[in-house]
Amino acid sequence: MSLNIVEATHKKAKPESEKIPFGRTFTDHMFVMDYEENKGWHEPRIVPYEPLTLDPAAMIFHYGQTVFEGLKAYRTDDNRVLLFRPEKNFERLNLSSDRLSIPPVDEQEVLGYLKELVQLEKDWVPAFEGTSLYIRPFIIATEPNLAVAPSKSYKLMIILSPVGPYFSGGIKPVTINVEDKFTRAVKGGTGMAKTAGNYSSGYQAQAKAAEEGNNDVLWLDGVEKRYIEEVGSMNIFFKIDGEIVTPALSGSILQGITRTSILELLRKWEVPVNERRISIDELYQAYEDGKLEEAFGTGTAAVISPVGELNWLGKKMVINDHEIGALSQELYDTITGIQRGRKEDRYGWTVEV
Ligand code: PMP
Repeated sequence: MSLNIVEATHKKAKPESEKIPFGRTFTDHMFVMDYEENKGWHEPRIVPYEPLTLDPAAMIFHYGQTVFEGLKAYRTDDNRVLLFRPEKNFERLNLSSDRLSIPPVDEQEVLGYLKELVQLEKDWVPAFEGTSLYIRPFIIATEPNLAVAPSKSYKLMIILSPVGPYFSGGIKPVTINVEDKFTRAVKGGTGMAKTAGNYSSGYQAQAKAAEEGNNDVLWLDGVEKRYIEEVGSMNIFFKIDGEIVTPALSGSILQGITRTSILELLRKWEVPVNERRISIDELYQAYEDGKLEEAFGTGTAAVISPVGELNWLGKKMVINDHEIGALSQELYDTITGIQRGRKEDRYGWTVEV
């Protein structure tokens, strides 16, 4: 389909330092494409960033039929702009859409439009250390109809937001509360989809964890409250007695692109890895036995977030003395190096815009 571009006449001021609050500054343009039952996805366009007008009965407002993605564009030292495995985000967008009864998009085609958008907004990709341009594709149900049924019309949009470093000066170990009351997702639910309700339903647990001095929440399975799932917006890895363990994808966990990349790297490095069920009791036992060597969260936002402390039912597990583990640091340096063009991309993970 031919892409129509309407250039903004008024251009906004760009950030002048790396101190950019997350998710509050948006670029001059956005991508929009519509879906209607008889037309399919149509009218791809790049237009000036502006508010939307929607019918109050639009189905997104009532039954939450929506999905989203999150990825970043990075500026290299030689001024190129790279995306990291963006095809995986559109693959996952379609997986999420399938779960939410939203019609799929042509992944390659939408990736092409994203590249055009980032190309147009290239000057918005910040150059300060640790910064990037956050990319948020999302789909909303737009049909004005209060019937509890899939919408017949949708809007896919992509907005862009320059973001500062997650932690200034690299990575910093975080403190995490193991949530014992609330549940994020269950098998057969929407846990493997990137959809709005999975996040807003976690706010209470987040607030409770924060009140007790934690940075984030570690979710357990919703049935037995025993098996480890993932952190707020990160997957979780443990190094136990030399082996890397991460919860297997059970249907209730998001299939993180950083998670996939780390598993691929570890296998290339011939580090023993195991995707399996792991209970919090087993983890605590490993801790007591002195075998819990490292723990880290993985996600687009921080790439690697070492876990310095886990709090579970009044018990405290201090991991690696609140220091960054050697493996955590190596994984962080490798992935960020590839993303920023400072290390050779042996795996063909980056896509130049
Ligand atoms: N789990 C959840 C619930 C998330 O929202 C995210 C962020 N997308 C992740 C894990 C990590 O995924 P990724 O590595 O693709 O950013």
